Amino acid sequence: MIEILSPSELPRARAVGALVARILQAMKGRATAGTNLLEIDRWTREMIVEAGAVSCYVDYAPSFGEGPFGHYICTSVNDAVLHGKPHDYRLADGDLLTLDLAVSLDGVVADSAITFVVGGRGSQEDLDLIDATQRALAAGIAAARPGARIGDLSYAIGEVLTDAGYPINLEFGGHGVGSTMHQDPHISNDGRPGRGYTLRPGLLLALEPWIMADTDELVTDADGWTLRSVTGARTAHSEHTILITEDGAEILTLAE
Ligand code: MG
Ligand code: MG
Repeated sequence: MIEILSPSELPRARAVGALVARILQAMKGRATAGTNLLEIDRWTREMIVEAGAVSCYVDYAPSFGEGPFGHYICTSVNDAVLHGKPHDYRLADGDLLTLDLAVSLDGVVADSAITFVVGGRGSQEDLDLIDATQRALAAGIAAARPGARIGDLSYAIGEVLTDAGYPINLEFGGHGVGSTMHQDPHISNDGRPGRGYTLRPGLLLALEPWIMADTDELVTDADGWTLRSVTGARTAHSEHTILITEDGAEILTLAE
């Protein structure tokens, strides 16, 4: 199903996008050395509740996960890249942390992810990983406008990642957003231009390039959720929810 938001729904889309951005930035500020991933999860729950929003994660039970997720934010550390389940782990300086958050507010969902180095001082290799996903995300957003096809966005994302020398996994990618977290169309992180669904104003999309430094192969943790690089290589992930407007795209989850 593909949902197109009416003009009267756009203020709600902007509000939930701003909320997701605000929570992610707050958690980034608190994710210092010694912080436990379970504290980040608890603080996120508190901010979601305080805002009157609803977690898209806590009861989430898709075919690829083991039972309901049971937490409010994904915390993927170092070689973990997607669906990182918060657990009893204290962050250390130099950890590469991805926070991924989706919430629903007044019936509209926004979804965003950021990767950063705990303590702020990362290796050049880690900074390059993050930079590649951010540039790929920007390229995908730049290609998003009415009349563009989903394949145009996939191509733009994939071109940046490939040029940067990273393998691309096509199992998980971006997606439509609306009254629920995961909707059609699927947006692969690589593809051919001129193919797929044609974008229209009012469409919400979550674009989310993610990479592992030297592999495209994932392995699932014993927790049944966390996906890691099979080689132990480090990883990065950048995601925004965007609104297709009359003349381009508006990023709803941009940090202020
Ligand atoms: Mg996400
Ligand atoms: Mg997503």
